[in-house]
Amino acid sequence: MDDIVEESESTVPLTTQINTSQGSDELNAISQIKSSGKSKQKINVKEELEKRQGGKQLLNLVVIGHVDAGKSTLMGHLLYLLGHVNKRTMHKYEQESKKAGKASFAYAWVLDETGEERQRGVTMDVGMTKFETKSKVITLMDAPGHKDFIPNMITGAAQADVAALVVDASRGEFEAGFEAGGQTREHALLVRSLGVTQLAVAVNKMDQVNWQQDRFREVTSKLGHFLKQAGFKDSDVFYVPTSGLSGENLAKCSQIPDLTSWYKGPCLIDQIDSFKAPQRSTDKPFRLCASDVFKDQGSGFCVTGKIEAGYIQTGDRILAMPPNETCTVKGKQIDLLSKNNLSYFYCCMCFGPATSESSVCT
Ligand code: GDP
Repeated sequence: MDDIVEESESTVPLTTQINTSQGSDELNAISQIKSSGKSKQKINVKEELEKRQGGKQLLNLVVIGHVDAGKSTLMGHLLYLLGHVNKRTMHKYEQESKKAGKASFAYAWVLDETGEERQRGVTMDVGMTKFETKSKVITLMDAPGHKDFIPNMITGAAQADVAALVVDASRGEFEAGFEAGGQTREHALLVRSLGVTQLAVAVNKMDQVNWQQDRFREVTSKLGHFLKQAGFKDSDVFYVPTSGLSGENLAKCSQIPDLTSWYKGPCLIDQIDSFKAPQRSTDKPFRLCASDVFKDQGSGFCVTGKIEAGYIQTGDRILAMPPNETCTVKGKQIDLLSKNNLSYFYCCMCFGPATSESSVCT
C-alpha cells in the first residue's frame, strides 16, 4: 500500500498536452502530480488488477458490421453458450420476442436491452458485456451497425483493442453491406483508423448458403482485398464461418459435415482467444484525455474522459492542462452513465476537497 503513496507523491510534469476533447476547450488533459496525503487508504493497484483479472489478460473487443449482418444475435448466442445467460432468461426472451413478432431476434435481445432497440430490431447504443476465454477476459462492445448511430459506434470503437467484423454471407446481402451505402467498409476503415490492427471476420449466416465453401471463398476474397487496402495485414485478419442463429462454430468447433469437410480452423471464441493483448501502461504517470467537463452540484466540477495511462485514486492531486491548475480528486466512477450517454469506459472524476473513500480507476 505504502509504495503507491510514495509513487504518487513524486511530481510528474506534464510534458505533452493531449487534446482529444470534443465537448470542452477548457480542459484537455489531466496529469497526476502528487497525492494529497489526505486520503485515508490507498489501494495496491497492481495487486488489485491481478485479483480482478485472475491472471488473465484484458482485451476490449468491438463487434462491427452492416446492419442486420447478425452482430447482436451472434454475440447474444455466444454469451448464452458460454453460460452468461441462464436458460430461464433465454426462454423469457424467446417468448417475448415471439409475442412482439420478432422471434428471430431472441438472441439479439441479450444485448439490445432498450425497448426502442427491441421494437426497431436495431442496436442503437453500445452494448457492453464481459466474458472469458481460456487466456483472456474480454470486454465485448456490440456497436450499432445502422448509419444513424455511427457516432455511438465510434465511441465503442475508440475503446477497442481488436474487432470482430460480422458479414452476412447470404447472396445479395453481403454485397449490399459491402457496396456503397453499406457499413462494412465504413466500419472496417473506422476501426483501423482508431488503431485496431487485429480483426476476426465472422462470415455469418452460413446456414443460409448451406455452408458452401465457394461462397465463403467469394466473400473472403472480396473482403481480403479491401481490408488490405484499408491497412490490415493479411496475417492479422482471420475468417471464421459462423451461424449466429444456430450457434455453429461460435463457442466450439462445428460438427456439421458440410462445414468440417473444408474448414479446419478455429471456432470464433478460440480465434478471439488467440489475439495478442496490448500492453497496458498502468506503470506510467496518470494521463486522462478529457472529453467533457461539467459543473458538479457542489463546489467542484466533473470531468469525463478516457484514461490513457496510469491510474488514479481518490485524494490524488492532479494537474489540469490547460489552464495549468492543480486539483484534488474527490471521487470517480466508471461506467456510471446511462445507456444513452456515450461515455462507456470513461472515468468521471469530481474535483474538490478529498474524501475518505478509496477505490481505484485504471
Ligand atoms: P445486427 O443488426 O447486425 O445486430 O443483426 P441482428 O442480430 O439484429 O440480426 C438480424 C436478423 O438476422 C435477425 O432476424 C436474426 O435472427 C438474423 N440472423 C442473425 N444471424 C443469423 C444466422 O446466422 N443465420 C440466419 N439464418 N439468420 C441470422
